[in-house]
Amino acid sequence: MTTTSKARHWADLLADDIIDQRGRCHVVNTGITPSGEIHIGNMREVVTADAIHRVLTERGDESRLLYIADTYDPLRHVYPFLDPQRYRDKVGKPLSEIPCPCGQHSSYSEHFLEPFLRSLEQLGIRPTVHRADQLYKAGVYSDTILIALQQRDRIRTILKEETGRDTPADWSPFNPLCPACGRITQARVLGFSAEAQTVEYVCGCGERGTVSVAGGGKLTWRVDWPARWKIFGVTVEPFGKDHASKGGSYDTGVRIAREVYGIEPPYPIPYEWLSLAGKGDMSSSKGNVLSIHAMLEVVPPEVLRYLILRVPPQRSVRMDPGLPLLQLIDEYDDVEAKNRDSRALELSAISGIPPVGVPYRHMVTVVQAAQGDSEKWMEILRRNGYRLDNIEGLCQRAAYAQRWLETFAPEELRFQVQDQLPPAARELTLEQKQALRLLGERLRPGMTGEQIHQLIYALKDELGTKPDVLFKAIYSALLGKTQGPRAGWFLSTLDPAFVTQRFAEAAAIGGE
Ligand SMILES: [Zn+2]
Ligand SMILES: [Zn+2]
Repeated sequence: MTTTSKARHWADLLADDIIDQRGRCHVVNTGITPSGEIHIGNMREVVTADAIHRVLTERGDESRLLYIADTYDPLRHVYPFLDPQRYRDKVGKPLSEIPCPCGQHSSYSEHFLEPFLRSLEQLGIRPTVHRADQLYKAGVYSDTILIALQQRDRIRTILKEETGRDTPADWSPFNPLCPACGRITQARVLGFSAEAQTVEYVCGCGERGTVSVAGGGKLTWRVDWPARWKIFGVTVEPFGKDHASKGGSYDTGVRIAREVYGIEPPYPIPYEWLSLAGKGDMSSSKGNVLSIHAMLEVVPPEVLRYLILRVPPQRSVRMDPGLPLLQLIDEYDDVEAKNRDSRALELSAISGIPPVGVPYRHMVTVVQAAQGDSEKWMEILRRNGYRLDNIEGLCQRAAYAQRWLETFAPEELRFQVQDQLPPAARELTLEQKQALRLLGERLRPGMTGEQIHQLIYALKDELGTKPDVLFKAIYSALLGKTQGPRAGWFLSTLDPAFVTQRFAEAAAIGGE
């Protein structure tokens, strides 16, 4: 986002509008179905909601943040990541009522919910969490279910007018959960009793009977959504653009909210998708997802928040876990970078650990030069002139850098300083050997990356060598390959006596 210091952040602008339209008491709602791994594409919803919640709270307004997990939704398919033998007969049953894939969780939905809730904690997002199955079973939805059953015809008319599609004559807003076959997708409603709070049904499996509205089924999605707005008094809700299309579930929800439940629908914040570089929009069914959990292994949570918050919700975000991720972390850490969005940074802050001040790209070089040894990398940073007063922050960054290198780093950024002069050094030309010898002789302890960088450039002019030729010589002699990290800064991470000796050795090869 091109933000000048004067432009206000989108969350502040939205908050103005929300207060204008909905007063000063807010319930910000989110909801994600835990039918598979909850990925960083889904994360936009909760991060967006949390930013709005933070801004409203900052203004002194009353604000609550909710997350409702759709645990009573049916399993729709045997997804590719499921054992077909085991899950074939579970299709159509609520996620809360079927076993978890790994055997360690109380249900299928908890299996995917648990890591997501842990990630939320790490991201500094602390919503009140509700599970839809528990809400239904406790009777929280009962009034809204009976109203929907009584106003079935009006809801059908709304659906027809908004979507242009007819519903079947026996359509019901309520999907009974058949006690015989356990499915919530196969039963037809035959009638209901408002007094007894029961629904009469016949199921595709042949079973016929009555169920309680409390736990004996659930509202269909297009009615469930406005029902929860009523139950929780939701005033603000971000949702994916699929719900925001014309005739989509927000449009029908607005009318059901007003005409059936007699409430105002929440202030909508539709958001665009997060796409994965080279793989398109993230979606569980396409299998091109990165789990939030996996991302949090390689990116500090505040940077993940920043990735989302620097871009307004209506714009898509492209996620590239390779080099662009590294640049993003630099943007976060470099307090002097020009294109930083300082308000987005403020809204991304979590742990109270301030940006560490060492460019992440340099950290990636340093941890490799130190071969992961924390004593060594601290020594290198000290030699490079960095202040080590934020040890906790630095240790965190070093650990992220290490994992990023193992997971997403492009090959050209990975290296290992060779203990012996690499065989590749035999290919050095006379010109390269001479340059290495001179460079080795001129290195002094305590030189900064910038100083060594200038030294290399001065040497190149002096010898009339192309910079490329010189860089290749440096990498060959130390890494045994022809590319590597930015040479001046890389050399500053190494012991100058070692470098001088290695370059002399390389220069002497072949009896020169
Ligand atoms: Zn599990
Ligand atoms: Zn049945």
